[in-house]
This record gives sequence, C-alpha cells and structure tokens, in this order.
Amino acid sequence: MLKILASRLRQGHRTNAFPEEVPPMPDRFRGLPELPGEPCPGGCRACVDACPTEAIGEGPRITLDLGRCLFCTACTDACPEHTLRFTDEFRLATRAREDLLAAPGEAYRVAGALEAKALALFGRSLKLRVVSAGGCNGCEVDVNVLGTIGWDLGRFGIQVVASPRHADAVLICGPVTRNMELALAKTLAATPDPKLVIAVGACAISGGPYRDQEEQLCGAVGAGIPVDLFIPGCPPHPLTILDGLLRLLDRVK
Ligand code: SF4
Ligand code: SF4
Repeated sequence: MLKILASRLRQGHRTNAFPEEVPPMPDRFRGLPELPGEPCPGGCRACVDACPTEAIGEGPRITLDLGRCLFCTACTDACPEHTLRFTDEFRLATRAREDLLAAPGEAYRVAGALEAKALALFGRSLKLRVVSAGGCNGCEVDVNVLGTIGWDLGRFGIQVVASPRHADAVLICGPVTRNMELALAKTLAATPDPKLVIAVGACAISGGPYRDQEEQLCGAVGAGIPVDLFIPGCPPHPLTILDGLLRLLDRVK
C-alpha cells in the first residue's frame, strides 16, 4: 500500500492546464485552413476535384466548408502550388452553420457564449447525453477522452450522463442513420427544455464521408434539428471539443 501511495505521489498531477495553458498538439494535427487569397493560376481546380466531400467552394476565391471537411489533406496533397495548407489553430467550433465556411482574408467566426438566460442555467453545470447516431465512433472516442485523467472534463462542471432525463444538452455524433432517427428523436423528446444540441464531427454536421448514402440524413442539420454548437473535424481533436464547450459556457474568450 505504501509503495502504491509513493508511486502516486511521484506521478504528480497529470491533468493538462487548459485553458490557462494549451497542451502541445501533435505534429500531424490539422486545424484551421490557410487559403490562397488570389485565384489559382490557369484556373487550377485540383483541390476541388480531389475533395471527397465537396467541401471546397468554386469561385474566384477558394473557400472551405469546415462542416464538410474530413481534414484528410487530399486537397493539400493535390495542390501543385502548395498555397493551401492546414494550420495548428484548434479553435474551430462555431455557433452557426454558415460560420464554418473559411474564406481567405476573412476572420473565422469562432463560437461565442450562450445568451445570458441560458448561461445562467448552464454556465456552472452542463450535463451531456451523448448519442452515437451512426458513423464510425471516432467522434465518440474523442468525446470519451475528455473524461480521462488527462482532461478531467468534470473540473469544468461538464459531465456525461446516462439518461436524457438528467441532461441539459444532447451531443450528437454520426450522420443520423435512418436506424437511429427514432432513437435520437426520443432522446431529444426525453431531454427537458430548455436544452442545447451540440453537433460533433463532420458526420453530425453534414453527413461527413457518408453524405451520399441514402441510409442517413446528413447529420443533425439534415435531420432538421436546431443546433446550438457546431464542432467540426473527423474526428475533432479533444481540445477542439473542449474549447467549443468552454466557449459556449463563456469560460474562454
Ligand atoms: S482536407 Fe477537407 S477540404 Fe481537403 S480534400 Fe479532405 S475533406 Fe476536402
Ligand atoms: S466525423 Fe469522421 S470520425 Fe466522426 S463519426 Fe464521422 S467518420 Fe467517424
């Protein structure tokens, strides 16, 4: 027993210090894209053709819809000019679907806090009911990571609960398959009002890689569910998810 206690003391404090300090991101992390400000030479559209989800908008300037993006880098690999790249900016969550459109020369409108009345209700305690509505489970895994000792989501008063009746918010992952449509509707109905809806990952926002499959509804948005917070990625990094949740609760600016 004494050996175990001594070992635990040696281990020290393992939870990262976010938001006071940003933990180191992996070298391969892909965040907010940096887009070419000028039209591409010769009318090149290699990135548009390479994108599997039609996330890149055609026009005089390249735009990129983070709600569809899988962060797969097929576009950057295809770009002969190397003018398209992903930065390490992890603050990607937004309050509105249209704010997920990244455009050159325009500031990305990262999520703001809840309105005062909702903030008074949820600001110090937010219970989440996670619904895996299809998809590959990658997004749920990164939500689950927030419950580990390295992140300790509970220190912010945010907890995952088992029953929608105890929840303040429904956190949706996956493209909302037709098989999960009724279960999701029942979960939303069982969650007391007022409630929040959080869409995590490209699937929950737009259908992600499944957007052309007829067995799904293109996410919460496609299913007609009003969403309060959009967290893009495939899957989003835990830091992107945590940053989005804390922005919603006015815990980071
Ligand atoms: S990284 Fe995003 S925009 Fe680029 S090809 Fe993949 S899905 Fe399309
Ligand atoms: S967004 Fe990507 S990681 Fe998340 S469920 Fe869909 S395919 Fe999986």
